[in-house]
Amino acid sequence: MPLSDLVNTFGQDLLRRYGRRVHKLAIHAGFSCPNRDGSKGRGGCSFCNNVSFSPHADALPDVATQIDAGRRVVKKRTGAERFFAYFQAYTNTYGDVERLGRLYRAALAEPDVIGLSVGTRPDCVPDAVLDLLCELRDAGHEVWLELGLQSAFDATLARVNRGHGFGEYRRTVLAARRRGLPVCTHLIVGLPGEGREAALASLGRVLDLGTDGLKLHPLHVVRHTLLAKDWRAGGYRPLTMAQYVAIACDLIERTPAEVTFHRVTGTATRDILLAPDWCTKKWAVLNGIEAELRRRGTRQGLGITEYEVRSTGAPERRSAAPPVLRTPYSVPRTPYSVLRPWTSAQ
Ligand code: SF4
Repeated sequence: MPLSDLVNTFGQDLLRRYGRRVHKLAIHAGFSCPNRDGSKGRGGCSFCNNVSFSPHADALPDVATQIDAGRRVVKKRTGAERFFAYFQAYTNTYGDVERLGRLYRAALAEPDVIGLSVGTRPDCVPDAVLDLLCELRDAGHEVWLELGLQSAFDATLARVNRGHGFGEYRRTVLAARRRGLPVCTHLIVGLPGEGREAALASLGRVLDLGTDGLKLHPLHVVRHTLLAKDWRAGGYRPLTMAQYVAIACDLIERTPAEVTFHRVTGTATRDILLAPDWCTKKWAVLNGIEAELRRRGTRQGLGITEYEVRSTGAPERRSAAPPVLRTPYSVPRTPYSVLRPWTSAQ
């Protein structure tokens, strides 16, 4: 049974909606980040690799060239013939709107690019950028805004030097979704001082506001970061793979079935990764999550059902039925953050 039978993955969602495989192509458009250049902060987030920051943006291939290189590789590997241009590296709304429009339109001008995904910080999305994304959406493209929240706790965000709080995320996610723009929220599991309960609480706060997609990521310790110094000094201990798998499954179970998971783990390359070493093994983690969900007899959304069913005294938990997909982009009505987390141990 593939993971997509248990989790509403973005890839499967695209396949269902477009009737063919659609793949994201990552683009590095040469943006910087306001958390490094002094406009929001200096030094960047404590886990962000400073060396890989693009000092030679002018030397980057243009958008069309990057798409062409990406499509060749992905086509060969997956057979996909339609793509989303994923503006991934750093803060992809950090620039004047005209420049942003030129870059996004250059990607959408490619005949096999049917959509756009723009990754950014929640404090770097002014109304003019939302208007631009809506304009592209109204021209017939699927457009997603990807917001790096990482944690819903201001104390944690301050500790890792994010340079923004939950308030900025709240403003942006509400403004985007009010315009009908789908949002994918990025959360990191295993941030300093955070464990399972904090991860569940962050998810609850995100679901309360409403989100359309989620990306989960274990915290990596990579070279040339403040976190690496902390880790070397014994001040930070990364999660084990088993701990990450268990928390990721808890989060998946507690996420409504209509929210798409764009990612349930993340990897780092060996040349920069210091710890944990299992973060180079994407398939081991994905297989671990699938095996754990199967062992629990559960799937995405069933943690919520379990709580609701439990509260009425009905014991039914296991079901072979696939997740029921409700209307996309709907704002959840259940106050998820106040529901008691369900675990397989209960
Ligand atoms: S917001 Fe993103 S790009 Fe900027 S410092 Fe933090 S992790 Fe790095």
